[in-house]
Amino acid sequence: MSNYIVYLEQLEGLFAGWQEKYKLFVPQEKEGFYFLEEYSPEAEISFDYDLLYNPPKSFIFPPREDLIEFDLKTYKSKPLFTVSPQILFGLHPYDIKALNQLDQVMDMGSVDVNYRQRRDNTIIMGLTPLRVCPEAFWGSVNAFNVDFGFDLFWTKIGPATFLVEVGSKKGEELLFVNGRVDKATSAEREVARRKKQEIVSLVQKQNRLKYSWEEVPRVLEKSFDSFLWAEKSRKCLACGSCNLICPTCYCFDILDEVDDKLNKGKRYRTWDGCMLESFAKIAGGHNFRGRAAERYRHRYFRKGKYIYDMLGELGCVGCGRCVRVCTARIANPLEVFNVLWEALSYER
Ligand code: SF4
Ligand code: SF4
Repeated sequence: MSNYIVYLEQLEGLFAGWQEKYKLFVPQEKEGFYFLEEYSPEAEISFDYDLLYNPPKSFIFPPREDLIEFDLKTYKSKPLFTVSPQILFGLHPYDIKALNQLDQVMDMGSVDVNYRQRRDNTIIMGLTPLRVCPEAFWGSVNAFNVDFGFDLFWTKIGPATFLVEVGSKKGEELLFVNGRVDKATSAEREVARRKKQEIVSLVQKQNRLKYSWEEVPRVLEKSFDSFLWAEKSRKCLACGSCNLICPTCYCFDILDEVDDKLNKGKRYRTWDGCMLESFAKIAGGHNFRGRAAERYRHRYFRKGKYIYDMLGELGCVGCGRCVRVCTARIANPLEVFNVLWEALSYER
């Protein structure tokens, strides 16, 4: 893998070159929070953001997506799908890991073509975090490092200097869009390695799983009847925020809407979440997860066991978004996984 050096002053030129073909999204601050927003030369890029509020999945798997439009008079329909090439600049490793996981899930069995086409038209540029949000625990769930899933990966190694690792041929071409850039020396590579290690140590010190992440499925398996599910879920508002904000959650619903004259309509898909009361409601009004405790438990089993059984990794990358958005303060997977483990330790 080649490594190059890019200086801050070169960025504007690079970005302008990329914008000729791509929509470019970069981290920016708005009222104290960080978002991935479209770049303009006036934009102030937040290289030191701690967490992006909008999960990167929303650029590839939008919260609402029109699928087909239909005519109820002629019974004709046509697909609605648009895709434009885009660059997501500045994703932290745990968010790239979440996208890598979505790639696997969406390609499984019958391929989700809309997702796949958008993903194939998306360039991912990673960024080593410079700060850690207080809720994050990605250092404990094997999400502090990625070795694939990006086209370029940037690490700030000086006030105005970045080391850029190449992850794909396309990424390298984009780096050379205004001519060649300097190769990194072994000393500069060493500085980047240390910067990555420092931030991992910081997040691991801050919030830590008290045991190996690979043990989480076993801990959950033994905790199916734990008192914790009922106790914690008593406070749940069933708002679904913890699902919708999560970079690895991918459930959706498909709905139709028709105009008021019942002539034409659209079929669209929209994000859904297992914490919503309606999620498991079926014909006849039956609900196979009607109780809050069942929904609450299910979410943790998805994050800690079911995805692991399918892909060999946790369905949680420890970003901390759900912890931040839950007004009832009960959505923290790290806390739940630790409490369950401690309860099992007392039993031994
Ligand atoms: S469960 Fe919470 S911490 Fe884990 S990936 Fe989803 S939003 Fe992030
Ligand atoms: S756990 Fe929190 S965020 Fe999730 S549905 Fe319940 S109240 Fe909402």
